[in-house]
Amino acid sequence: MLGQMQSQPLLISNLIVHAERHHGSTEIVSRRVEGDIHRSNWATVARRSRQVANALDALGLAFGDRVATLAWNGYRHLELYFGVSGTGRVLHTLNPRLHPEQLVWIANHAEDKALCFDMSFLPLVKAVWSKCSTVKHWIALCEADALPADHGIPGLVSYEAWIAGQKDSYVWPEFDENSASSMCYTSGTTGNPKAALYSHRSTLLHAYGAALPDALGCSARDAILPVVPMFHVNAWGLPYSGAAVGCKLVFPGPALDGKSVYELIEAEKVTMAAGVPTVWQMLLGHLQQNGLKFSTLKRTVIGGSACPPAMIKAFNDQYGVEVLHAWGMTEMSPLGTVCHLKNAQLDLSPAEQMAVRLKQGRAVFGVDMKIVDEAGQELPWDGKTYGDLLVRGPWIIASYFKGEGGDPLRYDEQGRGWFPTGDVAVIDADGFMQITDRSKDVIKSGGEWISSIDVENIAMAHPAVAMAACIGMKHPKWDERPIVVVVKKPGAEVTRAELLQFYEGKTAKWQIPDDVVFVEAIPLGATGKMQKMTLRQQLKDYVLPGL
Ligand code: ADP
Repeated sequence: MLGQMQSQPLLISNLIVHAERHHGSTEIVSRRVEGDIHRSNWATVARRSRQVANALDALGLAFGDRVATLAWNGYRHLELYFGVSGTGRVLHTLNPRLHPEQLVWIANHAEDKALCFDMSFLPLVKAVWSKCSTVKHWIALCEADALPADHGIPGLVSYEAWIAGQKDSYVWPEFDENSASSMCYTSGTTGNPKAALYSHRSTLLHAYGAALPDALGCSARDAILPVVPMFHVNAWGLPYSGAAVGCKLVFPGPALDGKSVYELIEAEKVTMAAGVPTVWQMLLGHLQQNGLKFSTLKRTVIGGSACPPAMIKAFNDQYGVEVLHAWGMTEMSPLGTVCHLKNAQLDLSPAEQMAVRLKQGRAVFGVDMKIVDEAGQELPWDGKTYGDLLVRGPWIIASYFKGEGGDPLRYDEQGRGWFPTGDVAVIDADGFMQITDRSKDVIKSGGEWISSIDVENIAMAHPAVAMAACIGMKHPKWDERPIVVVVKKPGAEVTRAELLQFYEGKTAKWQIPDDVVFVEAIPLGATGKMQKMTLRQQLKDYVLPGL
């Protein structure tokens, strides 16, 4: 017997219709590439996204065609989020931090038909347009009079001119909720990049899940600042959850330095911000150097790579801001876990609570997870036993775009597919998951595993250390031994011996790195993560002390 409820497909257009009808006057504030602050609201975003929809129809793009963006976080990008997906075309957010050759490869692989870009990327587009063989329409996200006459890109139009002539009424089509809505390529540290192809259904379920109180906890009373880029896993889904709850959204544009982010938080009364640890490092540095405090910020979601304990402590103890440590992946839309304490843990001492907050947290409903050994046998949730982390759920990929890489899933005895995350983790009896490492970064020493994250976290707690990367070096007896590569804070001093001494008593003796290598900079990838492969390459002639 079937249920007798309305079966309305879960579509991205539902989000913008809801946001306009129920939260039309709630503001959308953007720092623009031009440098000024722009004010819009959900009603205006909805109206202009309908103009985008009409403009796309006028171009003759087919259902499912990819429309690419090369843009920072801002209101025009938001309009494209709804305008493109709402019509059944697929929004393809390109990461402008990638190498131009890689961008060309991705645009061709995705077979993008149109590409919308911020004016700050005009030099980049000028360099690559002729190699993007499928792109027929180039749209610059600016006013008509901001286009230079000598841009040289055939058929280039300004976004404002492109939508200006279009009607602002549009009937969003209804179609299968499993239709593709947007796509994002993983940074592809090995081999060619592969794309996660999200659906309307997966995006809406993720929007509900992410907004839950024990997930990102979004509400109409919030002003949310996604520092995480809209070109990286849809800014962790915040534009969608934001529309669902009708909160104010504040976009930082290209200005991600501590001063600019701080000014925006204060001026726009931001209550929640989300981003990767490197961004918060810059923000904390700015606060500390200038003796500043936050007046409205209540919580920050930090994920993308492990959040150093020193950062959680600084936010909590010095600024009264709760850090929500979160974990996810491009392949997971991206949310997997968020660290919120359970009721029973509220009575723990501050130190005990901090130990919980360092973990990546509990699964958001919609995500199931387990840890397994090499044979695929499930391992206990005892907070000690570590294994490969596998996940499943309706916003986790089943396969990559165009079937690249074959079937990525591993099947259990019931034939259910689990996605292997490539992370190694422990899970405790309360369901709190903690990543010990990426499987390719874990250091195998004398048959035991050393978590590179643990080694990095201790170094990061030293006041002179700005950034630390732990990598394994070949050792004839132990197989591998850890070393820690360190960038010092400007003007700060620490010696190799002092830093090694700093590890004493903080970890088991055999987990203390064998050496400290000071460098000017650690290579970062396009999503702000440390590139350990490149670092290993740079240190290929390095020899461990005593060998
Ligand atoms: P890419 O590296 O391709 O950009 P993602 O952005 O999808 O991929 O990153 C996913 C990976 O980032 C996870 O598998 C995990 O290794 C790491 N990661 C994400 N959040 C955290 C976190 N809070 N702590 C530790 N690692 C994290």
